[in-house]
Amino acid sequence: MSADVSYGEFLRARREDVMGRIEAACQCAGREPGEVQAIAVSKTVGPEEVLDAWRAGWRAFGENRPQELVRKTEALGGLPEMAGVRFDMIGNLQKNKINQVIGRAALIHSVSSEHLAEAVSTRCEARGVVADVLLEVNVSGEASKSGFSPDELRAAVDSVVALPGISVQGLMTMAPAGDADAARRTFSGLRELACELRGRTGLALQTLSCGMSDDFEIAVEEGSTLVRLGRCVFDQGYALS
Ligand SMILES: *Cc1c(COP(=O)(O)O)cnc(C)c1O
Repeated sequence: MSADVSYGEFLRARREDVMGRIEAACQCAGREPGEVQAIAVSKTVGPEEVLDAWRAGWRAFGENRPQELVRKTEALGGLPEMAGVRFDMIGNLQKNKINQVIGRAALIHSVSSEHLAEAVSTRCEARGVVADVLLEVNVSGEASKSGFSPDELRAAVDSVVALPGISVQGLMTMAPAGDADAARRTFSGLRELACELRGRTGLALQTLSCGMSDDFEIAVEEGSTLVRLGRCVFDQGYALS
């Protein structure tokens, strides 16, 4: 597929469409388009499609499995053409995989418990680095979703932000699928929680990672600063509504 010129053209046209929608959602909400970053979630495609996406203008990518993060960074990280490429870790992280992610992910979106925060911090300290992370919050309360509950986070935030091996940049959440009103409540809940925690911790917590293909415009209207887009970037069968 990647050898096909028309896939590159699709990626480019789609990126323009998506960026235009982000800009329009910013305007709707009285925000500056520069406040919102978009990463291309490349978990369903191979390194060649990531290169195509780079050529279409995408500069930051998200992976949800450590093995894929390793594979893509090793295949692409050394290409002169892709100098400055960024990969984020956005998916569930097991403790025994943390070492694969440190040093490869620019930002870990998915620190979903105090235990995991401690484990990431310990491994970073051992390597003399500090990892930028987001704390994943289960705002909607769905049993299937991972993350701190808002109350768990309120209770844990002071000790988590004091961990020496991580630097907490903000919060991340996922909205219930297929329900625009629930998505909006989830995103506004994340924004309000961040606001509350800023007051308590004195941290900037400037990054709010929320919004995916089906709900990124709602997320931008509700304050997202980082949308994670997979299908609407790479999948020619995905129709933007
Ligand atoms: C797959 C994935 C996305 C992208 O989802 P799309 O609906 O394909 O845009 C975003 N965030 C996480 C954590 C994911 O696993």
